[in-house]
Amino acid sequence: MLQRKGVFAILSVLGLFLILHMAFSPAQFSVRIVATTAVGGVAFLLMTLSIFLSTRISALESWFGGLDRMYQVHKIGGVFAGLLVLAHFFAVQKELPVGADPIVNSLTPSGPLGMIALVISLGLSLNRKIPYSKWRPAHKLMGLVYFLVIGHFMTAPAVFVAQFGVSGMMLILAAIIGVLSYFYSVFGMNKRTALKYEIEAVNPMERATEIVLKPLAGALKHKPGQFAFVEIQGKGWAEPHPFTISSAPGEDNLRFTIKVLGDWTRKVREELTVGGKVDVRGPYGCFDTTGAGDKQIWLAGGVGLTPFLSMIRAMQPDDTRNIHLVYAARDKKDAIFLEELQARAEKLGNVTIVSLFSDEGNFARVDMMKTKLPDALNTYEYFMCGPKPMIEAIMKDLKKEGVSREKIHTEAFEFR
Ligand SMILES: Cc1cc2nc3c(=O)[nH]c(=O)nc-3n(C[C@H](O)[C@H](O)[C@H](O)COP(=O)(O)OP(=O)(O)OC[C@H]3O[C@@H](n4cnc5c(N)ncnc54)[C@H](O)[C@@H]3O)c2cc1C
Repeated sequence: MLQRKGVFAILSVLGLFLILHMAFSPAQFSVRIVATTAVGGVAFLLMTLSIFLSTRISALESWFGGLDRMYQVHKIGGVFAGLLVLAHFFAVQKELPVGADPIVNSLTPSGPLGMIALVISLGLSLNRKIPYSKWRPAHKLMGLVYFLVIGHFMTAPAVFVAQFGVSGMMLILAAIIGVLSYFYSVFGMNKRTALKYEIEAVNPMERATEIVLKPLAGALKHKPGQFAFVEIQGKGWAEPHPFTISSAPGEDNLRFTIKVLGDWTRKVREELTVGGKVDVRGPYGCFDTTGAGDKQIWLAGGVGLTPFLSMIRAMQPDDTRNIHLVYAARDKKDAIFLEELQARAEKLGNVTIVSLFSDEGNFARVDMMKTKLPDALNTYEYFMCGPKPMIEAIMKDLKKEGVSREKIHTEAFEFR
């Protein structure tokens, strides 16, 4: 769930900027100039926020509720920034303010250029039809827009900081953070935090592949439910991909279960061989069931099982929680690890596995769950991971059943 702390911090920064901007505006400026420049400033701060969040600094996770939530805020911040830039562009006074140098301004048409670049790159960024491997480099072009915007408020139509000293200083500080964040994330400076692994086994499963990685030096320390970025070394493997760690903390090797979904995951199944080198960066994520109530429903849709797999593998016999793991799959064959789960549940005693196979007419739906669970739905705390439409539909129905939002926790398997 998105944490309020991060949202509050963002709103506080924006609020501070607006207060300073209005309080210290030159008296001769019209309300229109103050308002439209404030809109432009807020847009720039939101752009900076989006770039800052893309650094994947793990210390920020607790502010937002996980890296997946940080990416959601990154996206929402970017879209709002785009809309505010449009508002600023069309509403701002077109005549130059008193004191602005017309020659300097005609030499730096960063406003119109920035607008064109913004519209193109926002269009690219929001287009979900572009394959991720092509989308990622195109998305990085957003940095160009950012640099044009810095050029814009530092030059035309009048140097922002010269006109609005106090709020202008805030924008300069934001620009420094934004530029550093951009170089850090785009030029892979966070690569230095990667841990080196070697592929020990590649286990084909039903429409999925399990990869087992042996640490070459230090091993990743994670909690059940967390994920990591997996970057296979070698030609043709391109960008890092996020996967939930399906092994339990403390196991010698790291295990990932990867469903074949597109080109990269198919390549994993068809071409990955034992002995290959892999960089792993993480752990990330705050999908944690340990601090929740005693009665829990874990709902897994297909490969959305992976966080729960790690949790069950890590579970100790003294765990007193009453857990129902509802595992929804297309059919029995597709329900990978079902036998292992059943064996572990039997041993643990506090876990009940409820399998739902859609080929038998059993779907992951709230009405179906009602018939399979012993108590009223609003007495449980929910943890869900699976396809977005399934999670959204169940959340809606749980709310209708009186389950409060605070009792529903979800893990999104996508960032864009
Ligand atoms: C936090 C998290 C945990 C995940 N855990 C698992 C897991 O345990 N098992 C599993 O099978 N899948 C998991 N996924 C999904 C997995 O990352 C994608 O299915 C995989 O990257 C698809 O790659 P592809 O090129 O084969 O497919 P494509 O068809 O190219 O991509 C399908 C979708 O996956 C996403 N995606 C693709 N490449 C990347 C990337 N490099 N970085 C971020 N997102 C990308 C995009 O949203 C894209 O639309 C997880 C995703 C996230 C965000």
